[in-house]
Amino acid sequence: VVEIQGLMKSFGDLDVLKGVDLDLYKGENLVVLGKSGSGKSVLIKIMVGLLKQDEGSMKVLGQEVSTLGTKALNELRLKIGFSFQNSALYDSMTVRENMEFPLVRNVKNLTRGEITRKIEELLDSVGLPQSINQMPSELSGGQKKRIGVARTLILNPEIMLYDEPTAGLDPITCMDINNLIVQVREQYNTSSIVITHDLTCAKVTGDRQAVLLDGQFKAIGSFDDVFAHAKDGRVKSFYDYNF
Ligand code: ATP
Ligand code: MG
Repeated sequence: VVEIQGLMKSFGDLDVLKGVDLDLYKGENLVVLGKSGSGKSVLIKIMVGLLKQDEGSMKVLGQEVSTLGTKALNELRLKIGFSFQNSALYDSMTVRENMEFPLVRNVKNLTRGEITRKIEELLDSVGLPQSINQMPSELSGGQKKRIGVARTLILNPEIMLYDEPTAGLDPITCMDINNLIVQVREQYNTSSIVITHDLTCAKVTGDRQAVLLDGQFKAIGSFDDVFAHAKDGRVKSFYDYNF
């Protein structure tokens, strides 16, 4: 569902992406790891058309993103659920209002009942059915993350992008979020990219792991292939520092 070939991106003298090749297959969870500043967020931004590459190709759901006009780009973005690092809920709105917002803006002709049912179904699936009338300030960090994921799912995205979903959470809450990411894939048939520094998250959520180093993916494969049997010392050090 995503095909990246020979992707290059520089900012002035800084070459961030230097020929990135990567495919996201339908129905898989792909984990992207890489040091801070290695270009993970830049890659995601090119994917959703917030930045343009200098060279190479970024195809999402069959479309070359950099050639799309505003309307086509907006339509494509509706099929991509982007779960931000801070859950980015609107603090002055209840959970229900937060979740309604993307629906009301983007989907016409839904009845009140249909909207409520959809919200209830998603809150149920993230394990927070009782929080519908709460304010974000009444929720813990982990609960906000869950609501953020639920809100992202409300437009039935085909692709989910999680940017550091477990950052700043305790190990048990991390595991809840990891399980949620796996469950979302099963339940909603999404294909996902999970950006993380957390190897437990990588192991639990990822069908494949991809390590971004020096502007290219140096290792792509199963967790054991990439880490336990790592040949590149820098890939191995990722593993060694985590365990
Ligand atoms: P982290 O793990 O800390 O989130 P990252 O891998 O997501 O890191 P990016 O945000 O992709 O890192 O940034 C990669 C590099 O590109 C950084 O050196 C950053 O300063 C630079 N960069 C990103 N966006 C811009 C921009 N709009 N203009 C100039 N430089 C940028
Ligand atoms: Mg980043």
